[in-house]
Amino acid sequence: MRKISLSKLPELFSAIAKTSALYLPVDTKAGAKFEAWAVGKTLSNALNTVRSAKDFFFPQTENLMDFKVEGKNIELIDTRKECEDFVLFGVRACDVKSFEVLDRVFLAEPQDTYYKNRREHALIISTACNKPQETCFCGTFGIDAAEPSGDIVTYRTDDELFFDAKTEKGKKLLDALSSITEEADEKAVDQQKALIRERLQKLPLKDLKTEGFGSGKTAEFFDDPQWKELSSACLGCGTCTFVCPTCQCYDIKDFDTGHGIKRFRCWDSCMYSDFTKMSAGQPRLTQLERFRQRFMHKLVYYPTNNDGLFSCVGCGRCLAKCPINMNIVKVMKALGGREDA
Ligand code: SF4
Ligand code: SF4
Repeated sequence: MRKISLSKLPELFSAIAKTSALYLPVDTKAGAKFEAWAVGKTLSNALNTVRSAKDFFFPQTENLMDFKVEGKNIELIDTRKECEDFVLFGVRACDVKSFEVLDRVFLAEPQDTYYKNRREHALIISTACNKPQETCFCGTFGIDAAEPSGDIVTYRTDDELFFDAKTEKGKKLLDALSSITEEADEKAVDQQKALIRERLQKLPLKDLKTEGFGSGKTAEFFDDPQWKELSSACLGCGTCTFVCPTCQCYDIKDFDTGHGIKRFRCWDSCMYSDFTKMSAGQPRLTQLERFRQRFMHKLVYYPTNNDGLFSCVGCGRCLAKCPINMNIVKVMKALGGREDA
């Protein structure tokens, strides 16, 4: 265990940035956002970023490859570049867990080499949540905000930052920072963990449970009459899917630039009316079907295919951002709260 005075954070960031690119949450007019560190940029005090850290591994848009077409010849141009090593600082417990959810999708065979490349080059420095918000419910999914995963876990007191290296990669970086950090005992961190757990117990959603959902529950929930009422006001705007750290749907399109063809991948949303539209038509014709798909995927389909793991991490972003105030908590309470459930 190592520690550093908060007054020395600029020194710390400068030292990390000398070893590899460093990204950390900073305050912007639109809320906290991960940005590349540069001299003068300070760490945000916000609990979490508006958009999640998934962008680093699964960006909103990316150029997968190019094609040069000459007559009947098509030349394929691999635009991939080996990703540089980078450090993601200040990732919260929910977002670190979201990487496990994404890994099971993108690293399953056949592996997504674009995603894999970025995952292998990242070093995650997570931060325990001193002040969890009322919209947080990571505990529902078995996540401990007092003890996040990551290569290095950090704990912040009023005047110090503590580091606990969890992987070889993390230990190596912490060793490289030994001249600006000092040895620390675990007492302050243990106190911090106890304080965080006490706060987690006071959150309004602390009693939300996943019991009733999970593997093999498709028949039980699919035709539930409550989907009609729950989905009736949904605008199909897709905001909930774009802020969600675990949503992983995308579309691939080719564009003729006039100088060749570029193949792009961009995020898509199961809430959109043209999502997975095929020549035969749209498989989900109503917003009810699209809405049901999103929540059934998080609470039933994904766990069915992934050893019971849910594909929600309780980050609360969709609770904060949905324009009609609909979210997974309301769905869980409605469907799980039936007397016959
Ligand atoms: S469904 Fe909502 S609470 Fe769950 S991970 Fe996605 S944005 Fe966060
Ligand atoms: S649930 Fe809310 S955020 Fe999601 S698509 Fe519907 S209106 Fe938009």
